[in-house]
Parts: sequence; structure tokens; C-alpha cells
Amino acid sequence: MSHYPKACFLTSAYQPGQFIADEGVEVAFAGRSNAGKSSAINAIVNMRNFAHTSKSPGRTQLINFFALRDKQRLVDLPGYGYARVPKPVQDHWRTLLGTYFEQRQSLAGLIVVVDIRRGLGDFDWQMLDWSKQIGRPAHILLSKADKLKRGAAMGILNQVRNEIDETAVSAQLFSATERTGVDDVRTTIDSLFASRLSSVNVAPEIRE
Ligand code: GDP
Repeated sequence: MSHYPKACFLTSAYQPGQFIADEGVEVAFAGRSNAGKSSAINAIVNMRNFAHTSKSPGRTQLINFFALRDKQRLVDLPGYGYARVPKPVQDHWRTLLGTYFEQRQSLAGLIVVVDIRRGLGDFDWQMLDWSKQIGRPAHILLSKADKLKRGAAMGILNQVRNEIDETAVSAQLFSATERTGVDDVRTTIDSLFASRLSSVNVAPEIRE
């Protein structure tokens, strides 16, 4: 049986008023366009075409909400780093994501998908910075690890671990095609949910 047998699409939001009700817990996925975010989500949920891998420029502006279990969600944030994105589109992206991070009480943590051959870029650092500012942990998936030999992949993982603040950010190797690291990231997602629920429970003033 699948790890998330009841996973399903909930809604897409172009603006904050369209976000799903801020209750329960959710883990958000971010990544540069083409980093392998959709493929990672599909592998984690174990469904083909769950998060669509083919994208029109319009869809890149949406935050997509999916249910994993009752009151546990996966949020697919719009990809960044598209070439030749007009300024108004960039501004919309920044405002939409900025508002999401500022407002979202149910956000348990952030998963940043990074192509292992590219390493962390400016936008990835921006996402890590946002999650740090609101006190949520982040976890980096070094995707497409199958493209490198094991030793080279481990070398990059160690390099990334040296660059990040390991008290708040963790990292792992991942491959959607070989399905390596899938169980590890599922465990991370479930523990992010659990730790958010326990922190909300000890701080009732922030409960919705
Ligand atoms: P997104 O834009 O971040 O959602 O990226 P996609 O999931 O659409 O993947 C971008 C490209 O990378 C596609 O051609 C995928 O087939 C390829 N890709 C994604 N994950 C992997 C992986 O684990 N291994 C390899 N070799 N290719 C991958």
C-alpha cells in the first residue's frame, strides 16, 4: 500500500485569498524550475503525474495544495529561475511566496529541491532564509543523484552540509528515477508534521 493512499489535489492559488484554510499541517516544496520538484513529489506520493511535470508559464505562478492525509498537506510552490521572466511576474512570485511564508501557521517545514549538478542558487538561499526567518526547518533534496557516481554525489552532499546551518537545515541525496531517498524524505515529512503539531500544542495562542 502506498505511504499516502488518500493523496489528492485540493486547489491552486494565484493569490493569498485562494489559499486553503490554514489548519492542520503542511510541508512546502520549492525549487528552481527543472530541478526535479514535480518528479520528486510524484515519487514521494507514488503516483505518476500527481504534480504535473509539463508546465505552461501560467502554471508557474500558482501555489498548488494537495492533501496527503486528513489535515496533512503537501504544497507545491511555484518554481523559480525561469529565463526571461518579466518583472511583473517576478514581483507577483515574490509577493505571493512572501505572503505565504509570513501568514502560514500550518507550515511545518520546507523541502528545497536542488539539482545536484547545479548546487544551491540564489533563489534556493532565499527560500532557506525565509524558512529560517519564520523558524521552520528546511530539508534539501539533492535531486538527480543518479546522474553522478556515488562518490561524487556523496562529496557534493558533504559540501552542501558544510554550507548550510545544520541546526535548521538538513540535506540528503535523492533520485526520482532510481527512487533513492524516497523513504528518507517521507520520514522527514512525517516528522516535520509531528514536530509542528507538538509545537502548536504547547503554544495554544498560535492555534487557529
Ligand atoms: P521541475 O521543473 O522542478 O518540476 O522538474 P521536473 O520534475 O519536471 O524534472 C525536470 C527534468 O529532470 C525532467 O526532464 C525530468 O525527467 C528530469 N528528472 C527529474 N528527476 C530526475 C531524476 O531523479 N533523475 C534524472 N536522471 N532525471 C530527473
